[in-house]
Amino acid sequence: MSEITTEIVNDLSMNPVIGQMANMGHEQILFCNDAATGLKAIIAVHNTVLGPALGGTRVWAYNNEMDALNDVLRLSRGMTYKNSISGLNLGGGKAVIIGDAKTIKSEALFRRFGRFVNSLAGNYITAEDVGVSPIDMTHVNKETNHVVGLPGKSGDPSPVTAYGTYMGMKACAKIQYGSDSLNGKKIVVQGVGHVGQYLVEYLRKENATVYIADINSETLNRVAQKYGAHIIDKDEFYDFDMDIYAPCALGATINDDTLSRLKCSIIAGAANNQLKVESVHGLEIMKKGIIYAPDYAINAGGVINCFSEVKGLPAEWAQQKAAEIYTTILNIVKRSQEEHIPTYQIANKIAEERIKAKRIVELPL
Ligand code: NAD
Repeated sequence: MSEITTEIVNDLSMNPVIGQMANMGHEQILFCNDAATGLKAIIAVHNTVLGPALGGTRVWAYNNEMDALNDVLRLSRGMTYKNSISGLNLGGGKAVIIGDAKTIKSEALFRRFGRFVNSLAGNYITAEDVGVSPIDMTHVNKETNHVVGLPGKSGDPSPVTAYGTYMGMKACAKIQYGSDSLNGKKIVVQGVGHVGQYLVEYLRKENATVYIADINSETLNRVAQKYGAHIIDKDEFYDFDMDIYAPCALGATINDDTLSRLKCSIIAGAANNQLKVESVHGLEIMKKGIIYAPDYAINAGGVINCFSEVKGLPAEWAQQKAAEIYTTILNIVKRSQEEHIPTYQIANKIAEERIKAKRIVELPL
């Protein structure tokens, strides 16, 4: 968190691990190694002021251990901000297992990993991420209860993520167009996978004119037909005349090239890490008069869904909480316009303010 990061100056060449932790405000890192199963993992607990650190486990063939460490430090800090801005009493954490998901995964490996998670005694709660399935999590669950995203529990988070994204988009419309109705708006959804297709459904129900792009032609045709959406060629995509751009596929689609071409007045989608370089492209978007809904705030429906599983709350609770993303985004955009600061920075400030306040006053869960 900034109050920590600005005060400590470290020579990272001398202190590559604890120095980096201090710079980014991490509380704890657990390095895990098990020769019998081939497990090599890193669990990073960034901040537990608001509650236990929740964040998924990623299996990835990193080039080297430093890449894995940097990734887990960055991702766990991101979870602190996401959980905080969403009003959840959860901290931020993340785990990475180093290796190729196609070859390294086994029941024994995930059980061993589960024992490491359990050794943190609830300070870290794990879930699925890239390369990990609900079945893998059932193996983790044999060794620890500090796991969510299990089959038969809160289920696929994508519908809740899409609903939150839809509500956040409406909040942007309220400020940009004076009404939160999306009726007749030209909206382009890039990526109609798990989240994108539910989003298309919400938008079509509201009579928006929806254009879709996806590299998977089978998915593209199915979604177009099912919801009455128009297909646009992925090469024409960024030059297309649209009101709202909804990135729901990859990260870094907002970059020097696309920003010079994009003709839209709102960017509001579910993809993670949409801005290629936050400080550059976040500012550029604001200068162009485009409203940008910060990715980790608008796509928080997934973590809201996980929280409902942690607390044993019903699906209706998760849906209601995701509806609050409307107010969250409205506040971020209003404050950005009042303070002339990019929305991504305002989101970070709000997330940090909540943690600072909690340090002073204990909140009930
Ligand atoms: P997904 O893999 O189900 O869907 C992604 C879709 O994008 C696929 O249909 C894929 O073919 C398409 N795609 C890939 N490259 C593309 C390209 N260059 N152009 C157009 N389409 C392309 O993933 P998802 O679960 O729907 O998640 C979408 C995004 O939202 C990801 O960035 C993810 O990290 C983020 N997100 C998802 C959730 C969730 O609940 N699933 C929660 C928070 C954030």
